[in-house]
Amino acid sequence: MSKANRVLIIGGGVGGLAAAIGLHQRGIAVEVVERDKDWKVYQVGIIVQANFVRALNMLGLGDRAVAAGYAYRGARFLDIDGNVLKELPGDTAVDGLPSDLGLTRPALHKVLTEKVRALGIPVRLGVSFDSLCDDGDGVDVKFTDGTCGRYDLVIGADGNYSAVRKALWPEAKPQYTGQGVWRYNVPRPEGLEWADIYIGKDKGKAGYCPLTPEEMYIFAVFEEPGNPRFPAATLAAEMRRRLEGYGGILAEAARHVTDPSLVVYRPLEACIMPAPWYQGRIVLIGDAAHSATPHLGQGAAMAVEDAVVLAEEVAEREVDSALAAFMERRFERAKLVGLSSIRLGEWEMHPESAGDPMQLTDQIRKKLAEPV
Ligand SMILES: Cc1cc2nc3c(=O)[nH]c(=O)nc-3n(C[C@H](O)[C@H](O)[C@H](O)COP(=O)(O)OP(=O)(O)OC[C@H]3O[C@@H](n4cnc5c(N)ncnc54)[C@H](O)[C@@H]3O)c2cc1C
Repeated sequence: MSKANRVLIIGGGVGGLAAAIGLHQRGIAVEVVERDKDWKVYQVGIIVQANFVRALNMLGLGDRAVAAGYAYRGARFLDIDGNVLKELPGDTAVDGLPSDLGLTRPALHKVLTEKVRALGIPVRLGVSFDSLCDDGDGVDVKFTDGTCGRYDLVIGADGNYSAVRKALWPEAKPQYTGQGVWRYNVPRPEGLEWADIYIGKDKGKAGYCPLTPEEMYIFAVFEEPGNPRFPAATLAAEMRRRLEGYGGILAEAARHVTDPSLVVYRPLEACIMPAPWYQGRIVLIGDAAHSATPHLGQGAAMAVEDAVVLAEEVAEREVDSALAAFMERRFERAKLVGLSSIRLGEWEMHPESAGDPMQLTDQIRKKLAEPV
């Protein structure tokens, strides 16, 4: 196979846009199709760490990501009364940039979309694929708007419910892990400079993370037997019920959870694909390849790391050896994050046989600080 000159990215989210920027910067012609005609993202907060900042910095966007978010000192584990058990401070090893950030998903989207637009990368909104036909020399793609194209490489960056994954690996589906996550934005108490995780309550955990100088978000992750669906009007009461019994800042913050329409509830699902994440000239990245639960706050970082590594390898080598090298560099790391996230959730649901979540989280943070 020759080197890729023309690449299609299906999905204009975190990984797809990062891949588009990385490939374009290496002189490769790249196009993006995004299913959502409005290109909207959830109004939620996300937590990111040093490896996310480093990966975005490799795309020249580290300082913009930091400016778009709120840099805090690191993560702390607390008991249910709010006493600090362990601090996991961030570091400034990434070109002096802070490592631990809270940022809103729309703020991250803005950083990425502004760069894509500034580079002039073609993005077609409201468009997906109808069919992908890889004949060994290229991939013929029929799009939902009736157009066609031929590409040297197709990247499926279409998230947790990936249609590209479904087309190539129909048996692979996200599985419910037994927990759900509740999120709500509240005012940030002045002086709060940590993301706090309160542990020790049966079947789950809760905490908060600064997002802006004015705002933080509360999260609560609990076992939700039977994967229930909650009537929209009950969401604030349901979330408050899960936050009962906590002390410290969380007790005060929980009082702000009043508007059911502002609660974001998601059942937790994971789909960690075995290697390889490619067939021929079609490859998956990000959640499409390895969606995990949010226990380590690593979904966005893993997607951007995939994108950076894939862009490096595709620019260097012929398509088949680039994809093999990509897998070699990405598989164990993404699997470690995915399986460790799921294990943390299992420990929360089965405290009688649990290991130490503080020790595991610390170990993974240190591992992820190593270069990709
Ligand atoms: C509520 C919530 C909170 C989260 N919190 C955190 C956090 O704190 N920290 C963290 O690191 N991660 C967090 N994540 C996970 C993180 O957002 C994902 O891991 C990350 O966005 C993965 O990037 P991606 O590019 O693989 O997928 P996405 O960013 O989901 O992008 C996929 C894109 O593909 C598009 N698409 C889907 N299907 C098609 C199709 N058939 N054709 C064309 N386009 C398509 C979608 O519209 C979307 O734009 C959270 C996720 C959610 C939902």
